[in-house]
Amino acid sequence: MAVERLATRLTKVKRRINLAVDRSGRKSGEIKLVAVSKNHPIDKIKYLKEQGISNFGENRVQELLDKAAEIDKITWHFIGHLQRNKVKYLMRIQNCQLIHSLDSWRLAKEIDKRARKNECIMPVLVQVNVAEDENKFGFKLEEVEEFLKKAVKLKNLVIKGLMTVVPYADDPELSRPFFRRLTDLKSDLVQKGYDLEELSMGMTNDFEVAIEEGATIVRVGTALFGKRGDYQ
Ligand SMILES: *Cc1c(COP(=O)(O)O)cnc(C)c1O
Repeated sequence: MAVERLATRLTKVKRRINLAVDRSGRKSGEIKLVAVSKNHPIDKIKYLKEQGISNFGENRVQELLDKAAEIDKITWHFIGHLQRNKVKYLMRIQNCQLIHSLDSWRLAKEIDKRARKNECIMPVLVQVNVAEDENKFGFKLEEVEEFLKKAVKLKNLVIKGLMTVVPYADDPELSRPFFRRLTDLKSDLVQKGYDLEELSMGMTNDFEVAIEEGATIVRVGTALFGKRGDYQ
């Protein structure tokens, strides 16, 4: 493992985050970095953990289970499309602290049911397909409030905020309007009384713009771990 390169990349990502935080007049404590470790080996996760990174994101349940079995004291984030029949396995992970990708009412009911069996309350984010990209999961902007009305009644899940994955673009400025729309939706819903804190938005290519637009969680893979090769 090329440890020096990991260390260099981590330093760079931290610097990029700090610059964006300064530019936007925010505080660094407001932004949580989730290191997206999908398709990267456990050694790299262990190394970043030693460097003080404690939040890691995975998009496949099996891969997350395998990794969680090998390393403890990590906060895991599930960021991929979650099939209902896999929800019960996620509940086995002690520190699965946040599911970012709640994208249907049926999935909400399943998470609620499994969490109840497990005697826990699962924190989730509602995934919003802001760009209405056919290849992506998530609610449309205008569907979110209707969904929240129903979902807040589920006792064993707690909705912490909103998440989005926007279409990849070389120019990160193209992500800005999508991020802004999600931030506006969150403010609107907060005004209506919904207790939403988190905005999970921004990846390697556009996390600075996301921070400028109000992200509280950025999900960064490639900029930390290097390329994932052919996978993805
Ligand atoms: C892979 C992935 C990321 C990280 O992507 P990078 O461009 O490598 O930073 C973030 N969010 C989700 C949902 C992902 O699937």
